[in-house]
Order: sequence, then structure tokens, then C-alpha cells
Amino acid sequence: MAEEIREKIMALVRLQQLEVEASRFQKALDDIPAKLDALEQVLTAARSDFETTETSLNQLRKKYRDKEAELQTMETQLQKSLQKLDGAASNKEYQSSLTEIEEGRKKISGIEDGLLADLDEIEKEERCVVAAKIFFQTTGQRIEKERQEVNQTEKELSRDLEAVKEKIAKAKAEIETDLLKRFTIVQSQQRDRVAISPAGAMQCRGCHLNLPPQMFNELQRCEELMFCPNCQRFIYWEEL
Ligand SMILES: [Zn+2]
Repeated sequence: MAEEIREKIMALVRLQQLEVEASRFQKALDDIPAKLDALEQVLTAARSDFETTETSLNQLRKKYRDKEAELQTMETQLQKSLQKLDGAASNKEYQSSLTEIEEGRKKISGIEDGLLADLDEIEKEERCVVAAKIFFQTTGQRIEKERQEVNQTEKELSRDLEAVKEKIAKAKAEIETDLLKRFTIVQSQQRDRVAISPAGAMQCRGCHLNLPPQMFNELQRCEELMFCPNCQRFIYWEEL
């Protein structure tokens, strides 16, 4: 009798271990999409940094071209003012042309200073673009490698999970239908889905409740299947 009960308990323990293992694999598999998302986010951030610096460089270059065009216009105007000076018919016209020329030259010199400052800024931004591009490329390579590793892990986990599921099916086939049904019900009542627990030192190891001495003695004799009066799990003597 004791041996028969012992075998039943061992079969349940084995099934429980396999199911714990399966749920560990399943949980790791469930975590995979979040891992892939996190990698994608790192890559997106690097791409966005690169694009932002590139946009900023293009804006600086456009600003530079606009100023160059403005300079061109100012220079044409200056030429006209110089011609007007040559053809001045009165002292008043002559004075006003001189003022125009003076102002034109000041503006031109201001624009030229601005162009030099812009060139500095453009050079700095060009270095930022190069750095951001290199960072984006190396990040891309690193992320691709990590993505492959995650995909490989996923394959291995799926394979392991399938193998455990086969073992679970075999383990279940070795357990009587009624007992298996009862086991499944107890499992469904437990938050951790663990339906069988060892007991030792007068305690259920599942919920840590102290068992009455009489019950613990019966447990050691192993003459029938027993349950923890607190957590309702199957219990067995841990030194069985
Ligand atoms: Zn218990």
C-alpha cells in the first residue's frame, strides 16, 4: 500500500516539476517581444539623433546660401551706388550716394562676418553628423547581432518547451484519470499553480502551516494521499 501511494506521489511530483519547467520556458518566451521592442527603440533613438543633426546641418547650409544671395544683392546695389556717384549732378546727390555706399559697405561687411561665423557652425555640425552617423551604424550592427541572439534564444526556448510538453503528456499518461483530475483542480486553486508540496519538520513546505503531530505521523507512514488543511495542496513527507 505504502509503495503504491509513494509511486503515485512521485508521479505527481514529476508532473509538477515538468509543468514548473514548462511555465518557466513559456514565461521566457513571453518576454521575447518586449526584448525585441527594446532593441528596436534603441535603434530608433540612434536613427532619430542622426536625422536631427542632419536636418540641423541642412538648415545651417540653407541659411548660409540665403546670406550668400543677400551678399550678392548688396554687392550689385553697391555697384549701382558707385555708378550713381560717378554720375552725380549735384553735391546733394553726391552726398546721398556716398552715404548709400558707406551703408552698403557696412552691410556687406556684416554679412561677410556672418558668413564666416556660419561656416564655423556648419563645420561643427558636420562633425556632429559624422559622429551621429557612425553611432547609428555601429548601433545598427550591435542591435542586429543582439536581435539574432534573441531570435536564436526564442528558437531554443520553443524547442525546449515542446520537449517538456511531450514529457508532460507522457507523465500524465502514467497517472490515473481521477487523480490527474484532482491534481489539476488543486493546481487551478493555487496562485503559483503548484499542487503538491513536501512536508518536513512538522510543516507544510508550501504554505508553512504547522501540521498536527498525528497528521505528520500518518504522512510518514504514507498509507494514503493527504492534503494540507490550509493550502489544500497534496502533501508528502519530504524524506519519502
Ligand atoms: Zn500547505
